[in-house]
Amino acid sequence: LQLEEVKIPLFYGWFLMSPANEKVKCSAIDFVKTLDTLEAFKKHSADFTGKAEKEVDLEQHFKAKASLHCTTKFSNYGKAEGAKEYAQNLVVKDHFGSVSELSLIAFFVTPRTVGARVSLTKEQLQLWPVDAESSVPGATGLPHGSRAHVTLACAAGVEAVQTGLDLLDILALQKDGQQGELVEMELGSLSYYGEGRWMLALREPICASACFSSSYK
Ligand code: GDP
Repeated sequence: LQLEEVKIPLFYGWFLMSPANEKVKCSAIDFVKTLDTLEAFKKHSADFTGKAEKEVDLEQHFKAKASLHCTTKFSNYGKAEGAKEYAQNLVVKDHFGSVSELSLIAFFVTPRTVGARVSLTKEQLQLWPVDAESSVPGATGLPHGSRAHVTLACAAGVEAVQTGLDLLDILALQKDGQQGELVEMELGSLSYYGEGRWMLALREPICASACFSSSYK
């Protein structure tokens, strides 16, 4: 009997464990429902519908993800650039299967995606690929780990890779000093960045236990 060659996964990341997975999903649904009722949001609903005066039902617009994770490295079964090096990295091997706390510091919504921004610890950053941000045009200059997020939902026909790009887009606007309209909410302060881009900076970060592992799908 011959052992098969060890295959590189589709992606590595922190996978939210129970009950954190459910807790984050519930908070995200609450946020999206509340956002939908705000006058400030309704005023800009054309960003989502393409038509003035037409309201959007965000719960219909998005399809929620079932099992939440924060991708570190998209390896594409070894086909992605740097996939082999990442798989062989000793820090990656050492941390495989370890549990840590993810700190969710913001929720964001665009016409394409809903996500949560993750603030990584120094130790977690060791697992973050060096080129995760620099490989994205327009994101150069943003700190290492800026792209870290959990995809909560995507609109029809939108792939999950879009969530991190939407986050970087908002962070680049923030860096340029764009503040946008501000709405104070119970959960924190909500900012509008134009073109359907909203971010809620959480007053209290949400803590979620997660296991560093990989997915083969
Ligand atoms: P799912 O819908 O969340 O299960 O996501 P997919 O199967 O589309 O992708 C799995 C994970 O890999 C998701 O977290 C995606 O954000 C991420 N991903 C997919 N494609 C890419 C890519 O081209 N680059 C990066 N960095 N991540 C990707």
